Amino acid sequence: MTDHRYLVIGGGMVADAAAKGIREIDEQGSIGILSTDVDTPYARPALSKKLWTDPDFSWDDEVDLHTADATGAEIHLRTTVVAIDRTAKTVTTDDGQRFGYERLLIATGGTPTPLPIEHDDRVIDYRSAEDYRRLRGFADQHAHVIVVGGSYIGTELAAALVQNGATVTLVHPDDVLGGSMFPADLAAAFERRYRDAGVDLVGGRRVTDGHGTDDGVIVTLDDGRELRADAVVSGLGITPNVDLARDAGLPVDDGIVVSATLVTEDPDVFAAGDVAEYPDLVLGRRRVEHVDNAQEQGRQAGRNLAGADEPYTHTPYYYSNVFDIGYEAVGRVQATLRTVEDWAAPLEQGVVYYLDGDVTRGVLLWNVQGQRDAARQVLAEAEALTPDTLPGRIPTGG
Ligand SMILES: Cc1cc2nc3c(=O)[nH]c(=O)nc-3n(C[C@H](O)[C@H](O)[C@H](O)COP(=O)(O)OP(=O)(O)OC[C@H]3O[C@@H](n4cnc5c(N)ncnc54)[C@H](O)[C@@H]3O)c2cc1C
Repeated sequence: MTDHRYLVIGGGMVADAAAKGIREIDEQGSIGILSTDVDTPYARPALSKKLWTDPDFSWDDEVDLHTADATGAEIHLRTTVVAIDRTAKTVTTDDGQRFGYERLLIATGGTPTPLPIEHDDRVIDYRSAEDYRRLRGFADQHAHVIVVGGSYIGTELAAALVQNGATVTLVHPDDVLGGSMFPADLAAAFERRYRDAGVDLVGGRRVTDGHGTDDGVIVTLDDGRELRADAVVSGLGITPNVDLARDAGLPVDDGIVVSATLVTEDPDVFAAGDVAEYPDLVLGRRRVEHVDNAQEQGRQAGRNLAGADEPYTHTPYYYSNVFDIGYEAVGRVQATLRTVEDWAAPLEQGVVYYLDGDVTRGVLLWNVQGQRDAARQVLAEAEALTPDTLPGRIPTGG
């Protein structure tokens, strides 16, 4: 059996940030990382962004997080943990190895929701670097790819593929692309950007079935229509990987339940990232599937594993880049909420406030840089603000 002072289950962005957080406090204690992945930790957002759009962007310099070099962590790849024994303070892997720990971090992220179709090499539920390599192969052949999903991963992949010479059909459930997130005028402009780039949009539809052919795939939609292509890729959200924690008797709600210091009900077991449900100071108890949270919460979890015992007080944002659009959001960005729009340049650069009644619950920064703290401030003070005072509160850059 191998013992580590700090053991991390999962080899994603949280594992990297946690190992670096541990080293801020403890320079010596041994760190073990057990990961199902075939790659050491890397910056996952690059898989749908810069790796497609910036020819100078390099895996080694800008995607690989160099966790082992920076921290001395021992990383075991292709290694899946199947059980945690909290009494013995050990974990067991699928190949029968056992690892002991003093403190454990569960950072298992999530599993992508699979397309409801027969899977072969041409069907990709997009999440990992392996998926990127497979999709890249199709793009390099200028293949026809069906992208399924209208949230940020689907929209980023559709933009990435069309900019790399693929023929792209984007199937999504909204009537207008982005219609569940953005106010109607902004969604219409967003959708237009895709049409102008040559993406074939199939809105208001879901995939219900499909199968492979000798040289491609056939995808069936909920109106019975069949689409043919060389490959299909999806971004349909994730299910958090909570089973290990649940089987070990730890409380699980939407995610693994942790306190403000990111510890579970077991004082030696922590959880962070996409898999953890934590109390956010501004937004309330929640689970966040975004990179800013993975990095900041991972770092804090690492510091706390090493004894810092500090609360996690960072309210995360998320971001997306497609074509010439960059947007960031804090809080709830849902078109079902009432919106107040404040544009420096109409539908090109500005701020959208999302209100529940008169209270701002979310802020969207559209091609506006450097205003995330101002957005957090608005949400923190939301109860005291009236809608008429919102325009101008966050600089739009105009
Ligand atoms: C293509 C893509 C683009 C994205 N773009 C953005 C973006 O633009 N903006 C944004 O805010 N967020 C983005 N995200 C989300 C962001 O990348 C995630 O929130 C972040 O990676 C979560 O980190 P994590 O460590 O919690 O989970 P992950 O990075 O998913 O890591 C989980 C790790 O656990 C391993 N694992 C799971 N179960 C086990 C087990 N039983 N034993 C061992 N190992 C296990 C997995 O193999 C993996 O290594 C994107 C995600 C994807 C997939």
